[in-house]
Amino acid sequence: MRSIDAADEAQLFATIDRWVEREVAPRVKEFDHADRWPAEIVEQMKELGLFGATVSPEYGGLGLPAATYAEIVMRISSVWMAITGIFNSHLMLALAIEKFGTEPQKRQWLPKLATGEIRGGLALTEPDAGTDLQALRMTARRDRGDYVINGTKTWISNGIEGHCFALLVKTNPEASPRYSGMSLFIAPKGPGFKVGRKLEKLGYKSIDSGELIFEDYRIPADHLIGEVEGRGFTQVAGGLELGRINVAARGVGIAEGALRLASTYAQMRKTFGKPIAEHQAIALKIGEMATRARAARLLTLDAAKAFDRGERCDMEAGMAKFFASEAALENSTESMRIHGAYGYSKEYDIERLYRDAPLTCIGEGTNEMQRLIIARQYMRRNGT
Ligand SMILES: Cc1cc2nc3c(=O)[nH]c(=O)nc-3n(C[C@H](O)[C@H](O)[C@H](O)COP(=O)(O)OP(=O)(O)OC[C@H]3O[C@@H](n4cnc5c(N)ncnc54)[C@H](O)[C@@H]3O)c2cc1C
Repeated sequence: MRSIDAADEAQLFATIDRWVEREVAPRVKEFDHADRWPAEIVEQMKELGLFGATVSPEYGGLGLPAATYAEIVMRISSVWMAITGIFNSHLMLALAIEKFGTEPQKRQWLPKLATGEIRGGLALTEPDAGTDLQALRMTARRDRGDYVINGTKTWISNGIEGHCFALLVKTNPEASPRYSGMSLFIAPKGPGFKVGRKLEKLGYKSIDSGELIFEDYRIPADHLIGEVEGRGFTQVAGGLELGRINVAARGVGIAEGALRLASTYAQMRKTFGKPIAEHQAIALKIGEMATRARAARLLTLDAAKAFDRGERCDMEAGMAKFFASEAALENSTESMRIHGAYGYSKEYDIERLYRDAPLTCIGEGTNEMQRLIIARQYMRRNGT
């Protein structure tokens, strides 16, 4: 079980808060509105160790418990959620290698991933396979000591700026059940691996979402994670609990950030001779927002702590992801309304939180699917 000394944890949070306040907050509008890759901020994230946050110290990472990591994601997301995607998706790649890779694979890849020298993400989604991942079409064909990969991925975070991806493919397209023919590869950019178009989005700006095209992309067989075919789907599923805790933490950050902005604005803006916070209709909204944000935080930390204890926490992570992302959506909408016309202005921060929030309802399994997973687990555990 991972743990961290309380004083070290407090110091880490203080460092993150200082960085967010001094380096991120003053520049976020500039980057977000221009949809510009935040190169300087990425360099600072490397120095802070964020690219190795959950990688074990023996491979050069910080080895943080999930609860500490979630708290960091919440703090950053309360100001700018999008930049957490730059290291979140990257850490999912590192997790797949650390959890399921062979020892030589871990030694080869993890130290460079932990420093951010190599950055990457998780490439699962295809144009015709999102929720139903087993429908994916990308194939890897064994050719002596190599695999030859063909197909297209889409919506891949860090796809354009990143260097290396965990790539889910079919090594046996005829397999039944379908998941038993799926394998996960470590796929660095190289000949045959082309970046397609950058996808334009409502929010989640500055982090690139790209199409990745593979045409006779050839990689050595030792890039197959775990070096056994047919385990890819299980390996991806093995990262889902932490992935959902990540997204839940992003939702908490947005919900808390939107609340903070609403509360400050409502105490400053006056109508009919008094601050709008003193009108009951506004106070009721703030009361609901504060409750939602706190409930989302508690659910997320509850799931993260269960994960850190090594317990199965798919239901807890699903609940946290579902509730926190809906809280992000509701709080950002309510906060925007409390801001009146200024909530609709690009000069105020709330419009960014409002545009960023919906992604948390989609990523790492849509909220429709989360509810089905929660229901299934609840009934299984309770024998009803
Ligand atoms: C900004 C952004 C970043 C992303 N980053 C990545 C990334 O880094 N890597 C990656 O691999 N993917 C990424 N994705 C893709 C994301 O994971 C998928 O969009 C998501 O899994 C949903 O798939 P889909 O869009 O194909 O929707 P579909 O699967 O087509 O679903 C459409 C709708 O139907 C619902 N639905 C589907 N099946 C069922 C069912 N059985 N029961 C009930 N409802 C159902 C869904 O909930 C949804 O509402 C990203 C997406 C976005 C928008």
